[in-house]
Amino acid sequence: MNTIVDAEKIEFLLNDKSVPSSGDVYSVIEKAKKLKGLSLEDVSILINAGNEGIAFDEILTAAQEVKETCFGKRIVLFAPLYLTSECINNCLYCGFSKDNKETARNTLSKDEVIREAGYLEKMGFNRLLLVAGESPKSSSIEKIEETVRAIYDHTDVRIVHVNAAPMTLENLKRLKKSGIGVYQVFQETYHEETYQKVHASGPKRDYQKRLQALDLAMEAGLDDVGIGALLGLYDWRFEVMAVVSHATHLFRKYDAWPHTISVPRLQPAVGSPILSPPYEVTDRDFKLICAIYRLAVPTAGVVVSTREPEALRDEVLKCGVSQISAGSRTDPGGYSQDDEHYDASQFKTNDHRSLEEMVEHIAKSGDLPSLCTSCYRVGRTGPVFTDSVSHEEMARYCLPNSLLTLKEFTLDHANGSRKLCEAVIEKNISNIEDEKLRKATVKKLADIEQGKRDLFF
Ligand code: SF4
Repeated sequence: MNTIVDAEKIEFLLNDKSVPSSGDVYSVIEKAKKLKGLSLEDVSILINAGNEGIAFDEILTAAQEVKETCFGKRIVLFAPLYLTSECINNCLYCGFSKDNKETARNTLSKDEVIREAGYLEKMGFNRLLLVAGESPKSSSIEKIEETVRAIYDHTDVRIVHVNAAPMTLENLKRLKKSGIGVYQVFQETYHEETYQKVHASGPKRDYQKRLQALDLAMEAGLDDVGIGALLGLYDWRFEVMAVVSHATHLFRKYDAWPHTISVPRLQPAVGSPILSPPYEVTDRDFKLICAIYRLAVPTAGVVVSTREPEALRDEVLKCGVSQISAGSRTDPGGYSQDDEHYDASQFKTNDHRSLEEMVEHIAKSGDLPSLCTSCYRVGRTGPVFTDSVSHEEMARYCLPNSLLTLKEFTLDHANGSRKLCEAVIEKNISNIEDEKLRKATVKKLADIEQGKRDLFF
C-alpha cells in the first residue's frame, strides 16, 4: 500500500454514493472547528454533501470561520516570478512543455531577475514565488541559488518561495541554505493512470519520485512545503481526497501540515494539446474544494492564483482561502514588458488587477491585506508553525503584522488607496486584544511613519 496516497481507499470511498444527512455534515464541521484535521471518511461526507446541495453554504461558512480562527482576517498577497520557460518534460497541459513549438522560450539572466524582482518590489510585494520549468541548465540548483541570492542582495524582497522540480537530498540542502521560504512541488494529478497519460516524456513521468519529493525536502530541513493538484485533469473528488491524504501523511510523519495547498484549475496554454479540462470543475465545485481544504488541513495557506476570474477569486476569499497572488505574469521577463505575451506564458491569467487594486478590494470587503513575511524569518516554520496555528496562537501575530506591512505599503506604494488603508489600520488597532501587543504595534507603526522599515512580531 502506498502510504502517501491510499488510492484504493479513496476509490472505495468515492464509490459510496450514500447521501449524508445534514447531521452528518454538521458533525464533520464541528470536528473541523477543533483544528485537528479531518479523515478521508469525513472529506467524503463533505464531497457528497456538497454534490447533493446538503448544507453547502454551511460548509463554506464553516471554512471561513476556521480560516479566521487560524489567521484572523488577513489575506496574504504575493507574486510569482517566472525564471525560465525551458523544460525537458512534455506535460500535455503546460505551455512550457518541451515539444511545444509555439512557445517563445526565455530564461532570465541575473540582471533580468533583479529587474523583474525590483519591479515587483516597487509595486509593494515582499514575498515572491520563483517558478521554473525543469531544465538541467536553466533551472539547475546553481541557477536557482544564484537567482535567490540576486533577489536578496539587490532588492528589498523579504522572502522567496520556490516552485521547482524534485531534487536530490544534497540539492535540497543547498536550497534550504539559500534561505528560501516554502518549497512547492505539485503532483498535478494524483491519479497514477492519468499521470502517465498527461506526462508524455521526461523525468516528470516518474510518479513516485514526484510524490516523494516533499518527504525528501522535509528530510533536508525544508519544513515548509507546498502541495497541490491541477484541477481538471481527473475527477476533482479523487484529487481532493488525495491532497488531503498527502497532507495527512506529512503531518503524521513530520508533525507539520503542508504550509500551503494551492488550488490551480487547468487553463489553456498556447500550443499545448489539452486545451480544455478533460474533467469539468465548475465554479461551485471550486468553492467547495477551497472550503474542504481549509476544513481538512486547517493550518495550511490555501492559495488561489490569477488563473481564476475576478468574481470567483473575490468569492473564495470568503470561504477559507488565505493567500492570493496579484498582478501576475506567467511569462519569464513579463513584468518588465508592457503587454502580456500569451505565446510565452505558462497559462492564461484571468484576473488582471494590480497589487494596489487587490489591496483595495480586500480592505473594502472587511478583510486585511497582508504583505507579512515574518514567520519564515523568525523560525515559525514546519512543526512550530503547525503547532502555533492549531493552538489558535498565530492570528495573534497575523493581525499586527498585517497592519505593519499595510502601513509600509500605504507610505511607500499606495496611490489612490492611501486613505482607505490608513482608515483600515486605525480601525483594526483596537482589535488587538492583548494590551501589551497593541501598544507595541502602535509604537512600531509610529516608527514606520518616522522612516523605519521591516518591523514585525
Ligand atoms: S504572522 Fe506568519 S502566518 Fe501570519 S501572515 Fe505573517 S508570516 Fe503569515
